[in-house]
Amino acid sequence: MTESTYRIQGATGEWEVVIGLEVHAQITSASKLFSGADTTFGAEPNAQVSLIDAAMPGMLPVPNVECVRQAVRTGMAINAQINAWSRFDRKNYFYADLPQGYQISQLYHPIVGEGEIMVSLDEKDPDAETKVIGVERIHIEQDAGKLMHDQHPTMSYVDLNRCGVALMEIVSKPDMRSPAEAGAYVKKLRSILRYVGSCDGNMEEGSMRADVNVSVRKPGAEFGTRTETKNVNSVRFVMQTIEIEAMRQIDVIESGGTVVQETRLFDAEKGETRSMRSKEDAHDYRYFPDPDLLPLELSDEFLAECRASLPELPDAKQARYQGELGLTAYAAAVLTADVETARWFEQLMAAGAEPKAGANWLISDLFGALNRLGKTIDDSPVSPAQAAALLGLVKDGTLSGSLAKQVFEIMLETGDDPAKIVEEKGLKQTSDTGAIEAVIAEILAKNPGQLEQYRGGKENLFGFFVGQTMKAMAGKANPGVVNELLKKMLADA
Ligand code: ADP
Ligand code: MG
Repeated sequence: MTESTYRIQGATGEWEVVIGLEVHAQITSASKLFSGADTTFGAEPNAQVSLIDAAMPGMLPVPNVECVRQAVRTGMAINAQINAWSRFDRKNYFYADLPQGYQISQLYHPIVGEGEIMVSLDEKDPDAETKVIGVERIHIEQDAGKLMHDQHPTMSYVDLNRCGVALMEIVSKPDMRSPAEAGAYVKKLRSILRYVGSCDGNMEEGSMRADVNVSVRKPGAEFGTRTETKNVNSVRFVMQTIEIEAMRQIDVIESGGTVVQETRLFDAEKGETRSMRSKEDAHDYRYFPDPDLLPLELSDEFLAECRASLPELPDAKQARYQGELGLTAYAAAVLTADVETARWFEQLMAAGAEPKAGANWLISDLFGALNRLGKTIDDSPVSPAQAAALLGLVKDGTLSGSLAKQVFEIMLETGDDPAKIVEEKGLKQTSDTGAIEAVIAEILAKNPGQLEQYRGGKENLFGFFVGQTMKAMAGKANPGVVNELLKKMLADA
């Protein structure tokens, strides 16, 4: 993934796109940033609003330490500088979804400083180039409520359930140069947040959304003026926003205009971005330190505790799967992309499966079945322990590969253990040479024509005899033994 890979051809030559993302991630926490109100998604409007969220006079905010902990852990997960001293500021503006008249945020002293995220243009391709994208900062802030314009013909309603919910704003440096890089960055960031457990990364429910900053320049020139497209809520839309906005800016410049620094909206249906308002600067918001809140001071013990609670992260896990477990780069990348998959795979190994056989089976058989059933790995009908038992039956020769597939299908349907299915359906593989020899003899006797042709040099008829034997034995003959005996008996016949 080099910077030279993505260029847009305009009338005046090639253009380069410069992208910076501000990702708002809802911090996983049962209660809000400064109040005890519930944060569960999908509740009745205004069912989760405390007096603090409604900005009743005299109410004072109390920081939720869990939210602080999650922001610190996230910073540690991207190798960022953690600021043991940070402070909350008020960002002042009026809007009907914000009863306080200001958002509590962190402008001057964010809790997390510079960090970095390594992205690969194609997670599943071990040869794809990687690039480190800088993170400028992460700060903690409150979310606002939501206006509802579709409830009444002439009135708008407001739902304050989200008001006061804790967000992390993760601000990247303007380091991305293509829609694909930006898409890979959002995916990797989401993966890290889910590993850490600091955000569920659910973009459909609005737990994670991106403000997409885009500018264009001639390669090597100074950065151009950027626009910021707000609240883009899927990876695909982030990529589309960049494509559309870059083209629009190039058109503006090439037809003699200048790009205006402004805030825009992405309209997925029309496939365009639209101007929302001219861009305000920080000073427009009259930021000042929130007098209701003391600065956040984090002790060494608290920081140590945060660090100790971090799980193994995707990059480290991927390297370990390749190095220690001997998996291919492809398998390691696929198995570590989502924390749920990695967890399942590790439970499979803990239940006794061998890493390579387990990885192959999970990626082909289990993923294939889950795709077919439209299920995620977390609601797989087959448990890791059952899968390990199935692989054990293959390893000890009880089941051939194809019998294992049959047993797996029955497991998916019934949820039964493989041993029970093998027992009940009599699906055991047989290596009984006497029985197999008898069947082969019968097949050879029944097919004199094919035998003749085989002897005459048509060697690919070998497969025909294998197939006939397996069929006669209902797939239960050990394929290795069948091959061996067939070779011998065809030579003697
Ligand atoms: P603000 O908070 O006012 O939106 P920042 O300076 O914090 O402004 O930058 C916000 C985002 O814009 C960052 O993600 C940054 O990487 C990105 N950015 C800054 N300059 C440019 C540019 N010229 N082109 C594209 N993105 C940019
Ligand atoms: Mg911004």
